[in-house]
Amino acid sequence: MRRNLVVGNWKMHGDMRSNEMLLNGIISGVQELHNADFVVCVPNPYLFQARALLEKTNIHWGGQNVNQHEEGAFTGAVAPHMLTDLGCTYVLLGHSERRNLFYETNLTAAARFDAAIKAGLTPILCVGETLAEHEAGLTEVIVASQMDAVMATLGEQDFAQAMAVNMVFAYEPVWAIGTGRTAMPDQAQAVHEFIRHRIARRNPDAAAKVRIIYGGSVKANNAESLFAMPDVDGGLIGGASLHAEEFVAICQATNSVTASTCLAELT
Ligand code: PEP
Repeated sequence: MRRNLVVGNWKMHGDMRSNEMLLNGIISGVQELHNADFVVCVPNPYLFQARALLEKTNIHWGGQNVNQHEEGAFTGAVAPHMLTDLGCTYVLLGHSERRNLFYETNLTAAARFDAAIKAGLTPILCVGETLAEHEAGLTEVIVASQMDAVMATLGEQDFAQAMAVNMVFAYEPVWAIGTGRTAMPDQAQAVHEFIRHRIARRNPDAAAKVRIIYGGSVKANNAESLFAMPDVDGGLIGGASLHAEEFVAICQATNSVTASTCLAELT
């Protein structure tokens, strides 16, 4: 059985004071939740602070991107080992804001994915279509091209390594990110199922194990219905991850969905 996962993406928000309040609120809210994994992806300057506050808790921390190079003259870039040095276990890759605002491509996502798994980081590969692509009925074509660009670069050994670090996919319809619009649970389920089938073409065992999380305006009031879908293994949360109460409520929704799934499987 897959263990659900909730990831907060703080984007470019926060300062030392507000981060401390937010993290303390999340720590006290999720400390008794044991049925799912929780992660916060904070801006790089605050990774040290995140480590100090989170290292003895059940919350992991990670980066919002990483460079594919190990070191060198790459002004402004951060290497995978720099994230692991600061205790990061996860990293977001190919987020639509990176693709749209910073001109990152499927090729850079693939190179970064490869560098991340080699460093032992769990990559969370974001895929998803724009509104125009959605309306043109191109969701599966776009998602497949984004996935294939990464999967095709992985040889057998790399694929095994990606499984060893528990690679994660995040389906994030661009039209739902930060817009207040969210995919209906059955819409999300259909795309998650498509993603799982695509992985199964490469390796059926891996497909059964890979976690596929949903992102796009997930809030406390819609989390449970999304997470109840059989192929939705949790969420990638932007705006709502900046409010401790809201983020904790989403974590509780994941935790309780996982708990009831376990119960259903036992009875
Ligand atoms: C995101 O940035 O990945 C995201 C899903 O944002 P939001 O929850 O604000 O839509």
